[in-house]
Amino acid sequence: MNTRESPSASHTCDVLVIGGGPAGSTVATLLAQKGHRVTLLEKAHHPRFHIGESLLPANLPLFEKLGVADEVRAIGIRKYSAEFVSPQHANQQRFNFADAWDKSMPYAYHVHRADFDHVLIRNAERKGAEVIEGCRVKDAVFHADGATVSAQHDDGRNDTWQTRFIVDASGRDTFIANRLRAKHRNPLHNSSAMYAHFVGVRRNEGDAAGNISIYWFEHGWFWVIPLADGATSIGAVTWPYYMKQRGTRPLDDFLADTIALSPALVERLQGASRISPVEATGNFSYTTDHTHGPHYILLGDAYAFIDPVFSSGVMLAMQGAFFGADAVHTCLSQPANSKAAMARFDRQLRHGPKAFSWFIYRMTSPTMRDLFMGPRNLLRMKEALLSLLAGDIYGKTPIWPSLLAFKTVYYLAALRHLPRTVAAGRKRRRDIAAVADGDMAVRG
Ligand SMILES: Cc1cc2nc3c(=O)[nH]c(=O)nc-3n(C[C@H](O)[C@H](O)[C@H](O)COP(=O)(O)OP(=O)(O)OC[C@H]3O[C@@H](n4cnc5c(N)ncnc54)[C@H](O)[C@@H]3O)c2cc1C
Repeated sequence: MNTRESPSASHTCDVLVIGGGPAGSTVATLLAQKGHRVTLLEKAHHPRFHIGESLLPANLPLFEKLGVADEVRAIGIRKYSAEFVSPQHANQQRFNFADAWDKSMPYAYHVHRADFDHVLIRNAERKGAEVIEGCRVKDAVFHADGATVSAQHDDGRNDTWQTRFIVDASGRDTFIANRLRAKHRNPLHNSSAMYAHFVGVRRNEGDAAGNISIYWFEHGWFWVIPLADGATSIGAVTWPYYMKQRGTRPLDDFLADTIALSPALVERLQGASRISPVEATGNFSYTTDHTHGPHYILLGDAYAFIDPVFSSGVMLAMQGAFFGADAVHTCLSQPANSKAAMARFDRQLRHGPKAFSWFIYRMTSPTMRDLFMGPRNLLRMKEALLSLLAGDIYGKTPIWPSLLAFKTVYYLAALRHLPRTVAAGRKRRRDIAAVADGDMAVRG
């Protein structure tokens, strides 16, 4: 880590990156490799805990390009499949990534984010970015040539940077979107989560040991994510009204009571014990009304986040960083082409959340549950769905007609069970309604 000697010095750089999560560390690496003077400010000190431990097969080519594939392999456990367990269905459904349209991406990893984010930020530093941890960005003032950024170090010192460009990768802090009042709650989705690490959770045999499992239950769904050191991450994603029911109960008890609502999960947790405090996050579904502005772009969660059900957040953050690095590079090195570069970046960044959102919004509906628990490969629909689950949604992927066919089948099935569909639609509208206090982030 670089340290500053002057207590209130002013510095210059080409690109100032706010935040050293997957988006910030990736974009800093790429822009430094393109020869720009990059400074990344991170308010925390890595390694630090972060939720979001299940990665997608589409992450792997990005690791290769960044030069961290071996390091990520060393800290991860392979996830070959995603398993779904529904209380309304007798079977357990396993989706193998090897069966996706593109058979070249058969697995992904589960990682402790503390280790993973540490690998990425150290890589940014190795590749030439100046990385300053324990330094929180407090203010950014834009002017004709760029921006002046003020930040405060852990020890109270203040520094400023004159930069030609800002990349906001501040995650859920949404630094720029908050300042511009451009962040909006997603009117079509709303959920909350509580989670912790456990040991002694039963695992599958062999290659299936690292599979992610999703257990639906009455108030949402659970994730079960095996990690390489024997720990297992377990989280409940629930509607806000359910979180509100916690009342004054300690979060530990509330998570235990919630797990008790899923007999299949209870059975899997026989003999398991919790090894971390329970944490909770509320109302994490939001978007920003724009992706960029003069001298800045937004990346990853600093732009939007919908829901963790498809484990897409890290992949979207990192892939967005690749798109963002190209756009910023063009703005800095060929200003005449900035407008076209930003228009392309805008399309690329919006594409990710859009591709997943239709499925996310319907994931807890009875019709979608039926289709997931009994998938058919008619018109290659199952392969296309698997490619979506793998995060293979960019470039020339041919999955879109088959996904359209899947959506058509969904609507026909929903029509066939019209009363059930109408009742589920009404329930969903109630479920996603905002609940005072239930939307706030809480800690156990
Ligand atoms: C309950 C839940 C479960 C999830 N599960 C998954 C999953 O299984 N798989 C998956 O892929 N995704 C998951 N996600 C989403 C995932 O966590 C995020 O999408 C991902 O971390 C986004 O990366 P990012 O770099 O945009 O932001 P972050 O990873 O949040 O990084 C932002 C960084 O910016 C720093 N920062 C913030 N403000 C400032 C400031 N003012 N100055 C300096 N630094 C600052 C923060 O300290 C942080 O390190 C989950 C999300 C939730 C809420």
